[in-house]
Amino acid sequence: MRPLRAEIYLNRLRDNYRTLKQIHGGKLLAVLKADAYGHGAVRCALALEDLADGFAVACIEEALELREAGVGKPIVLLEGVFDTAEYDLVDKHGLWPVVGSQWQLEALLNHDWKEPVKVWLKMDSGMHRAGFFPHNYASAYHTLKQSPKVSDIVKFSHFACADDADSGMTDIQIETFDTACHGLEGEESLTNSAAMLAYPAARRDWGRAGLALYGVDPFLEHDTRIKPVMRLSTKVFDERVLQPHEPVGYGAVFYTKRSTRVGLIACGYADGYPRRASTGSPVAINGVRSRIIGCVSMDMITVDLNGTDGTIGSEVELWGDKIDVNEVAQSAGTIAYELLCNVKRAKFVYID
Ligand SMILES: *Cc1c(COP(=O)(O)O)cnc(C)c1O
Repeated sequence: MRPLRAEIYLNRLRDNYRTLKQIHGGKLLAVLKADAYGHGAVRCALALEDLADGFAVACIEEALELREAGVGKPIVLLEGVFDTAEYDLVDKHGLWPVVGSQWQLEALLNHDWKEPVKVWLKMDSGMHRAGFFPHNYASAYHTLKQSPKVSDIVKFSHFACADDADSGMTDIQIETFDTACHGLEGEESLTNSAAMLAYPAARRDWGRAGLALYGVDPFLEHDTRIKPVMRLSTKVFDERVLQPHEPVGYGAVFYTKRSTRVGLIACGYADGYPRRASTGSPVAINGVRSRIIGCVSMDMITVDLNGTDGTIGSEVELWGDKIDVNEVAQSAGTIAYELLCNVKRAKFVYID
């Protein structure tokens, strides 16, 4: 069997949830969109079901998957509905839709609800991607508030630069939000992972934790309060010794400088490992840090075994405790979110 494994430590997921909830205060949504950032949404939801105040997903399909698996806690649809007919299912399954645009608002008010619905009303406080402009927000709020179809409104917004501590943008967004919400009663929610860690002023009734819940530091440091939930590993399944000045792999982009033991491992870009993380990207071979050499292929990667005791059968960590997924992301010029979401073809092993 191909040895690529994604171990998912559910106990760490639970610990991270508790830690983040304590940091944020109030209530915390566990964000499970995109199959829980590649970790497996159903397994993660079930592991958090007794702890979590609620969950958040990107769309109704993701919410229904959780309901069908027996998840009963509140589920927020972060992008609301994509067509008006979806409100039927929102109603039937007691989901909490985001309303971020005029058509979503009108369709919600035109829908024939069996139960009054709790709405998350989104403000565009400066990111300019989704939500009502601040000057239209109170009007949208009052329109919903007056309807007997709406039980509660959670006022919320999302930050563009929360993981950039030097950007002044988050403070400006908080101020914009507070000004536009003046006099509007009800719960509020502003923080993603980075904001809940770094901006106390943004902690409100509900936090929304994604990346940090999976143990990844949004600031690319090693925040010891959270622990990586995923460990991606594989094995060396072949080995060769190359003389100096020999090329390795596609494009012959890497040449050995000295006699080099080259290990071949079972993982490639078809498994979601980023192709752009070629020569130099870190791996841990039997727990010892080394590096990729040459190009990442579709199903295989060549690694430097020099300085390690790695040989055929040795274990290689691609990311986990030894290799921070942020480091791999940086070698590939991308972010950890993308790497985690893309893992596929690996055998997922859940550990309690
Ligand atoms: C994905 C998402 C989050 C979680 O963000 P992280 O940075 O992963 O914590 C929070 N809020 C909204 C609206 C999102 O779409």
